[in-house]
Amino acid sequence: MSHHAADQKLVRDHLNRIDDHSPLTSDQQEQIKQRIRALLVEKNAVLVAHYYTDPMIQELAEETGGCVSDSLEMARFGRDNEATTLIVAGVKFMGETAKILSPEKTVLMPTLEATCSLDIGCPAEEFSAFCDQHPDRTVVVYANTSAAVKARADWVVTSSIALQVVEHLDAQGEKILWAPDKHLGGYVQRETGADVLMWDGACIVHEEFKAQGLLDLKAVYPDSAILVHPESPEPVVALADFVGSTSQIINAAKTLPNEQFIVATDQGIFYKLQQQVPDKDFIIAPTAGSGAACRSCANCPWMAMNALDNLADALEYGNSEVHVDVSMREQAMKPLIRMLQFAAK
Ligand code: SF4
Repeated sequence: MSHHAADQKLVRDHLNRIDDHSPLTSDQQEQIKQRIRALLVEKNAVLVAHYYTDPMIQELAEETGGCVSDSLEMARFGRDNEATTLIVAGVKFMGETAKILSPEKTVLMPTLEATCSLDIGCPAEEFSAFCDQHPDRTVVVYANTSAAVKARADWVVTSSIALQVVEHLDAQGEKILWAPDKHLGGYVQRETGADVLMWDGACIVHEEFKAQGLLDLKAVYPDSAILVHPESPEPVVALADFVGSTSQIINAAKTLPNEQFIVATDQGIFYKLQQQVPDKDFIIAPTAGSGAACRSCANCPWMAMNALDNLADALEYGNSEVHVDVSMREQAMKPLIRMLQFAAK
């Protein structure tokens, strides 16, 4: 069953609704940052940001005792932090996950419009019907899904532990139903040899990386290592020296001996890469074919909707609070807790 054409249209429609933020002057930026610092204290709130958000937001999160991380660590940090309000800079499923794991906390986001092509491409009703057709399979869903889809799953995984979870299930003889990212699912299937039935979804950012462009770039930087996020297509993954989640990519950049790295994931990660590994060079992997006007457009349009001004407004007015229906929350909590307990082992 192919969902791709319909998904593409949904994604295009959604992107057409996204407004551009007009750029702020540096004075305005500083004023808003001051306002955010004060509001975080006043509201007993903590800022939890993803690696793909604007570097200014990442910087602010670090400076104010919040966290900058991948979605697994964001979930853990939000749950364990003592603040009564979490402000989650990322995309919708990250805010929902925070609310599911910390129902007693107020969870805000700079905007509730920031979603993800994987989430859009996996509508709960259709997905549930797909699961019903395959009752013999263990349902494993990627974290990049709605609360309703998680509520239908046996396991939730992030890209940092997808391989280990599927290995574990395969060793127990279980057959897997995987959703929604076919590229990550394909990677997991190739690595583990598990029996995986796949939903047809993709990340619009990672899907654009091109193997030929990567080869051309590698020819220019022959001593570089190629670091690839597994949401990328198979021919791109096949060229990688290292495949892993955002946190694992940062770690690989630290530990591999190379001085230069070609990186195939959202450009937001360069803030942390340059901060953590300041003596090495990072080059963004190409998304454009030959003749295109730009070399790489590896920027998630939804992550980019998180800005200083809407972040400050969310804190001040509480106008973009995340709510998850109680029964759905209780259902979705089970596979999420399973993931966190598995990760803790
Ligand atoms: S980068 Fe891709 S997977 Fe991540 S939020 Fe954006 S669309 Fe979703």
